[in-house]
Amino acid sequence: MLTALAQYDPQIYELIKQEGARQNGTIRLIPSENYVSKAVMSADGSCLTNKYSEGYPGKRYYEGQQVTDIIERLAQDRAKKLFKANHANIQPYSGSVANLAAYIALAEPGETIMGLALPHGGHITHGWKVSITGKIFKSIQYSVDSRTGRLDYNKIEELAKKHRPRIIISGATAYPREIDFEIFGNIAHEVGAYHISDIAHIAGLVVAGIHKSPVPYSDIVSTTTHKTLRGPRGGMLLCKAEHAKQVDKAVFPGLQGGPHMHTLTAIAVALAEADTPEFISYAKQIVKNSRAIAEKLLEYGFNLVSGGTDNHLILIDLRNKNVSAKKLAKALDRARIVANYNTIPDDPAPPFDPSGLRIGTPAITTRGIKQEQAQLVAELINKVTENVDNESVIEQVGKEVLLLCSQFPVPDHFIIPNRKSEADNKSNY
Ligand SMILES: *Cc1c(COP(=O)(O)O)cnc(C)c1O
Repeated sequence: MLTALAQYDPQIYELIKQEGARQNGTIRLIPSENYVSKAVMSADGSCLTNKYSEGYPGKRYYEGQQVTDIIERLAQDRAKKLFKANHANIQPYSGSVANLAAYIALAEPGETIMGLALPHGGHITHGWKVSITGKIFKSIQYSVDSRTGRLDYNKIEELAKKHRPRIIISGATAYPREIDFEIFGNIAHEVGAYHISDIAHIAGLVVAGIHKSPVPYSDIVSTTTHKTLRGPRGGMLLCKAEHAKQVDKAVFPGLQGGPHMHTLTAIAVALAEADTPEFISYAKQIVKNSRAIAEKLLEYGFNLVSGGTDNHLILIDLRNKNVSAKKLAKALDRARIVANYNTIPDDPAPPFDPSGLRIGTPAITTRGIKQEQAQLVAELINKVTENVDNESVIEQVGKEVLLLCSQFPVPDHFIIPNRKSEADNKSNY
């Protein structure tokens, strides 16, 4: 495929090669990023991109669905099995669209939704004011306790009782601790609200049983497919049978036209990969690596929001380090360590130059990195923090990172041997 590209559009081909080299030659600590397998990449770049499939299997608005119907049913079945859910919709274009679809399925515009505030670790689509979700719904935002950095379920319950929202959203984009979805479910039940959980970041940990699944306690579970779950970029909704019709209608025709069949096909592949013992080991290692980095950072005198981590990510509070998070993120980038600056709960600094640095371990874990090298990564982060203006130290760290990268190349990972074909999936072509 890339040969055709090299011949036809050498300029883009060259840029893709450069991005590949960047991904191979850097330690990528952005917690929402990963490396997909060659199998996922092949499905994503396949002829399924040529097909229009508005509707759902068996009820399409275009002909020629002999193969796509089988693929989409397979993807649904794999998702239902993996997450032990009654119903799955694999069509959302992204996590953001999946969230909006979930809200539209259960609430009318103007009704109240309640989610975690963006500066406290929530996602923009959890009702933050610049997002459409904060405009078409009345939005109430809860926060984490600024002293502990953790969710305060009593406060959340109080707020829910006061505002009686139609929907309570659990889940986060920058929260380093396990979320108690059962308590969220109980609070929602108590105030007559629906509970939507968003596991965009932690879906892979949920599959592996490391983070308790929200499925039994949620009306709808929303997720991306490309973060810890390690599939192509996309979104997915899981729900109880009673909400299946509304969910499907909210996605199509409520928000979207034709599904991206190439993505959906690649999601099916990623779901098969996630249903393996290798995936469980990978997910366990994500947390081991995260804890190893956290421990080391604490030794170096870094403050961590909530004091540590239960999952794949760490939020560093840099206020005691006398360095701007933005400046540090840029210095780290020059040293081939890629992270993002982030707000911390009750951040005194402005959002475009906040006090936190967010790092995560999914991508380095996919490369095969274990605790020992994870600790080295923490050591290098410390070195750059203490030398943000010293370009020769930064360059030296960059060389060490490159060496580490060469020892843990981006893997041509998990070509699953002899995966047998599931029954009855032959079309007549
Ligand atoms: C990443 C993320 C999303 C949005 O996903 P996109 O695919 O980027 O639209 C939604 N919710 C949470 C909690 C996220 O972390």
